[in-house]
Amino acid sequence: MNAPIAGPVEDPIDAYRIVSEPFYRPFAQEVGHYEAAYAARLPILLKGPTGCGKTRFVEHMAWRLKRPLVTVSCHEDMTASDLVGRFLLDADGTVWHDGPLTAAVRHGAICYLDEVVEARQDTTVVIHSLTDHRRHLPLEKKNELVQAHPDFQLVISYNPGYQSVLKDLKESTRQRFCAISFDYPDAAIEAEIVAREAGVEPETARVLVRVAERSRNLKGHGLREGASTRMLIAAGQLTAQGVPLEEACQIAIVLPLVDEPEIRAAMSSAVSACL
Ligand code: ADP
Repeated sequence: MNAPIAGPVEDPIDAYRIVSEPFYRPFAQEVGHYEAAYAARLPILLKGPTGCGKTRFVEHMAWRLKRPLVTVSCHEDMTASDLVGRFLLDADGTVWHDGPLTAAVRHGAICYLDEVVEARQDTTVVIHSLTDHRRHLPLEKKNELVQAHPDFQLVISYNPGYQSVLKDLKESTRQRFCAISFDYPDAAIEAEIVAREAGVEPETARVLVRVAERSRNLKGHGLREGASTRMLIAAGQLTAQGVPLEEACQIAIVLPLVDEPEIRAAMSSAVSACL
């Protein structure tokens, strides 16, 4: 009897392919600059405040370039093994499991390390040999040197606003990257994004953007960061669910941003002035 014919073996990296176009509204030349950097296989650093579109931009670019996207949200407990992989015990003994970075390197994905400075410094050092002419990743525990797939690219993001002496991008790391700078877009573009993403009327979106502008002016005067585009979208989504606009601004913008009662009062009156 003939052996059954195996169906096509699915490549696990296919799970990371982005099938439909993520909406991204460009604000300058960032799409062309990214394409040029990718064509030269240069690593990219996306700089900018939280919630201003960096992740959405990478998703859009991965879709445009038809590359799988492996995203890792970095945090302070993250070790180099979390990125590159480790030996794990299973029924057959110890088996090596590639981490997300190694999988991306082997299979030609774009690997996006979000908020890379949050990770421990030994973690950032493992990416160095991937970001120069060597383009390889040493797996010390496995005694293997993985040569990067020709389509592999490394992208990291970094919020200079959070920077402290302890959590700054090392000079030897930052000098390996081309950088694209992000900020909150111009009011008209931001309103367009909020209207589309939250599914609200253009006028509601414009009001939310005015609220954001007020909060951004309070940065450094009691606020660590102003309201992000992400927060405006959340407020818009609440209004689309029937929550009155002022309450939506409280829930999605003022309360998450501010703890101190005085600043909260200042922020709340700024909101009322915008409505
Ligand atoms: P970051 O990675 O900078 O923290 P995100 O990319 O997650 O921020 O952005 C937050 C949300 O804001 C996105 O999910 C998206 O809805 C919206 N957004 C921000 N900028 C844009 C843009 N230029 N085009 C489309 N959506 C955007």
